Amino acid sequence: MSDEQHQNLAIIGHVDHGKSTLVGRLLYETGSVPEHVIEQHKEEAEEKGKGGFEFAYVMDNLAEERERGVTIDIAHQEFSTDTYDFTIVDCPGHRDFVKNMITGASQADNAVLVVAADDGVQPQTQEHVFLARTLGIGELIVGVNKMDLVDYSEGDYKQVVEEVKELLNQVRFDTEDASFIPISAFEGDNIAEASDNTGWYDGDILLEALNNLPAPEPPTDAPLRLPIQDVYTISGIGTVPVGRVETGILNTGDNVSFQPSDVSGEVKTVEMHHEEVPKAEPGDNVGFNVRGVGKDDIRRGDVCGPADDPPSVAETFQAQIVVMQHPSVITEGYTPVFHAHTAQVACTVESIDKKIDPSSGEVAEENPDFIQNGDAAVVTIRPQKPLSIEPSGEIPELGSFAIRDMGQTIAAGKVLSVNER
Ligand code: GDP
Repeated sequence: MSDEQHQNLAIIGHVDHGKSTLVGRLLYETGSVPEHVIEQHKEEAEEKGKGGFEFAYVMDNLAEERERGVTIDIAHQEFSTDTYDFTIVDCPGHRDFVKNMITGASQADNAVLVVAADDGVQPQTQEHVFLARTLGIGELIVGVNKMDLVDYSEGDYKQVVEEVKELLNQVRFDTEDASFIPISAFEGDNIAEASDNTGWYDGDILLEALNNLPAPEPPTDAPLRLPIQDVYTISGIGTVPVGRVETGILNTGDNVSFQPSDVSGEVKTVEMHHEEVPKAEPGDNVGFNVRGVGKDDIRRGDVCGPADDPPSVAETFQAQIVVMQHPSVITEGYTPVFHAHTAQVACTVESIDKKIDPSSGEVAEENPDFIQNGDAAVVTIRPQKPLSIEPSGEIPELGSFAIRDMGQTIAAGKVLSVNER
């Protein structure tokens, strides 16, 4: 990997529309598939009289290994273009995608939406676009895939583009922030080279569009927010909380406060990659040591921030949620587990204030009795234990959550306002 700027990229879209194939193609075209793997495939291809089909062999092999249960995960693959080093973050469909995305474990900067030309917008296309919008994805590159299956028809392409635009309008995703490209992940059209099969298209090809994505801006101006993942005791140093800086800057010498545990002290040392550093920035995973703060004073789920601008602790908070998969209905009094940054806290739905029409954003119903799959709503939530969380309008990194019950993510949301303890 070069020292180019880094981006986290999500690949989203309906099942079987070609996400894995596209990832394979991107890895292949950018030279990110290890040489020995390609060599091996080349040999096999030649043995079977199919020289020149290395890509197909890479993909077949991935599919085969997937069937055998050997996970060649498309998540966490890396590839570089002229402008960026990309890491593909967890993809929807993977069990904990929504939770990971919301809790920050795999916050994507931008996304590629794959829509098959022969199938158009499907339920998961809608769900993923809605999530991308809610979770603050910057730009969307829409790859209208499998163009080979529709004979590279411009009419079919345009129809899918219209469907997707309508969907983006519905969830109020600015279509200015979306670009559209006719591709075939399998055949390689308009991925690394402009395709002769789509003479009617003169826009960017996929690698160009990836190069032209806006650079993520690290939230260094916001106040420090560092959710604690674990707390260790290290001999010679003492108590070492570890976590990732989400916003702001952590400096040695700063006075910091941990909430909701409500303890504070001065930062003595900050360590990153086993080396002492004077400060840490958004995205940095650090261990640090705070004067006077012992192992039993703080815990996972606490958030560290400046003592004079400490993390908010909610008595209640108002949030907008969208229900994704709940077997029945959600009513007042429901108390599932909320996952927000590193915290997991049971919270009660105290009131369902409004049902929102997802296509217009207008209030569809005041104080509904219940909400169910597909509904968006404004709700008031009461954590059963102290929880540090922030309005997403002020600190988006600490303002979203996943609601889990029965082993799955049933809803996702973002915080509108916090009524502090
Ligand atoms: P995912 O579920 O979205 O990851 O989809 P896959 O990448 O597993 O692809 C699903 C099926 O579509 C596989 O059989 C692929 O070979 C096929 N496929 C993917 N992209 C293309 C394409 O551009 N053209 C054609 N003809 N088939 C494709």
